[in-house]
Amino acid sequence: MSVIRVRFAPSPTGQLHFGGLRTALYNYLFARSTNGKFLLRIEDTDRERTVPGCKEHLQQLLEWTGLKPDEKPCIQSERVHLYQQCLNDLFQKKNSNEYIYPCYCPIERLKLLRHEAKRQNQPYRYDQKCRQLTTKQKDEYKRQGVPSVVRFILPPDESQVYDDLIFGQHEHNPYHTEGDFIIMKADGYPTYHFANVIDDHLMAITHVFRGHEWQTSTSKHLLLYKAFDWQPPKYGHLPLIEREKGRKLSKRAEENYQNPIEIEYYRKNDFIPDGLLNFITLTGGGFRTDTTIGKTLEEMIETFDHTLLTRHAAILDFKKLDVCQRAHLKRRYKQDRIGVIEKLRQKVMKYYPDKKRGTSLQLETSYLERILDLDEFRIATLENLFNNDLYEYLWTEPVLNISKDDDIEQLRFIIESSLKYKNIGTYETAKQIINDYKNLNSKDKLTNKEIFKVWRLTICGCIKGPPILDIVNFFGTDIVQKRCERALDALNKNEKLCESVTQQ
Ligand SMILES: [Zn+2]
Repeated sequence: MSVIRVRFAPSPTGQLHFGGLRTALYNYLFARSTNGKFLLRIEDTDRERTVPGCKEHLQQLLEWTGLKPDEKPCIQSERVHLYQQCLNDLFQKKNSNEYIYPCYCPIERLKLLRHEAKRQNQPYRYDQKCRQLTTKQKDEYKRQGVPSVVRFILPPDESQVYDDLIFGQHEHNPYHTEGDFIIMKADGYPTYHFANVIDDHLMAITHVFRGHEWQTSTSKHLLLYKAFDWQPPKYGHLPLIEREKGRKLSKRAEENYQNPIEIEYYRKNDFIPDGLLNFITLTGGGFRTDTTIGKTLEEMIETFDHTLLTRHAAILDFKKLDVCQRAHLKRRYKQDRIGVIEKLRQKVMKYYPDKKRGTSLQLETSYLERILDLDEFRIATLENLFNNDLYEYLWTEPVLNISKDDDIEQLRFIIESSLKYKNIGTYETAKQIINDYKNLNSKDKLTNKEIFKVWRLTICGCIKGPPILDIVNFFGTDIVQKRCERALDALNKNEKLCESVTQQ
C-alpha cells in the first residue's frame, strides 16, 4: 500500500483560528497514527485577499503547536506555471470541449446575468454563451486581446457519489446550484478549486480532512479529477465547530466573547500548546479511549481513530479551556520543575522590572515554588499571575483600598487585635483568632465574613482570591504582620497605602 499523505492547506488571508487549527490537528493525527506524512500547502493564489506576512506567521504558529509538516511547504503562488501547464494539457485532450472553454464575457454582462437571476429568484448560473463560440470567433477575440477566463463545464445529469470518511456515502450534483465555474482567471492565476485539485494530485495526497463547508465543492473537485483521468484522494469532512448551539465561530461575532478564536492570542499569553490541542479534541470524538483532559499530543496520536469522529456540529466549550491548561501546566511542572520556575522568574522580572533589586522576595526559588505548589491559586497559565490584578499582592505590597461603606473602627479593631497574636501567619493561629472573636460578648462578636474581609484587604488589597486562610498560611507570620502594621499605619495617617518599590 502506498504511503498515506495528508495536507493542511490554509489561505494566508487572516489569522489562524480554532477551526483551522482543528483541521490541521486531525490531518496531523491521521498522518502520525498511520505512519504517513503531514504536509503544508499555502493556497495563496487569490492575490487580492492574501495578507503579507500571514504565511510566515501561519508556519510559526504550526511550529509552536507542535504540528510540524514533514516536508517543505508547497506555496501555490510559486507554481503558477504548473497550473498553466495542466490547463494546456486539458486543452490538448481530444475531447477537451466536453470539459472546458474560454469565456470572453465582459464583467458587465455577467453582472446583468446575476441581476436577472436575482430578479427571477433563481440561482445565478452562467449561460454558457461562450461555449458556442466558433474557432473563428475565438481567434478574433484573441487577436483583439480581449481578456478571458477558462470555465469548467458542469454536466447536467452527472451526480457525484463518494464515500465520505466521516459522513459516509454522499451524493451531490453541482449543476443544480451553479453554472460552469471558472478554473483560470484573467490574470493567469488559477482559482481555488483548480489549484487545489492539481496540487493534491501533484503532492500525491491520499486523504483529505477538511471543514464541512467544503463538502459541496467536493463534487466539483471529483469532476476535475475525471477530466484529468486522475485518481482522487479520499475525503472526510469535519463537522462544524460552534461557539454555542447554532452559532458559528466567526470573526464578526467574536467581539461579544471573552475567549478570542485566534490562536495567536493563546501563544502570546503563554498557553501550553498541548493543552490547546487537547481542548479542541474535547468535543467531536475521534479517540479509542475517552477524551480526557490532560492528554498530550503524543497520547492523542496513540489513540486516534478517524472512524470515531462524530458527525454533528461540535461546540467549543471554552469553560474547559482553563481546566485543560491547568492540567497541562501541572503536568509540565511535574516534568520540568526548574524550567517552569525559571519561566515564572522571567515573568516577574518582565512585569515588575523595578522590583528585582536586592534580596527581593518574589524572585527566590522557594517563594516561586510555593506559589506553583499551591493549588488554590487555580491558575491556568503562568501569565494569569500577571495579566489581572488578582495576584498583584504576590509581587507588590498591597494598597489598602477603603470604600466609604467600610466600617473603619471595625477594620482598625480587627487589625490591632490580630497583631496581638504571636504566630499570626499560621492556620492554627488564624483559626484561634476567629474562634476568639466568636466568643466576644454579643455586641463585639464578629462573623467569619467580617474578619476575612479585613484580612483580605490588609494582606491582599483586594477582596477576591483563594481562601484567605491559605493566603495567611502562604505568606507566614513575618509578612502578614508587616502588612497588618502597614495597614494600621495608613489608617492612622488616614491615607491610602501606596505601592512601595521593594517588598521587605
Ligand atoms: Zn462568456
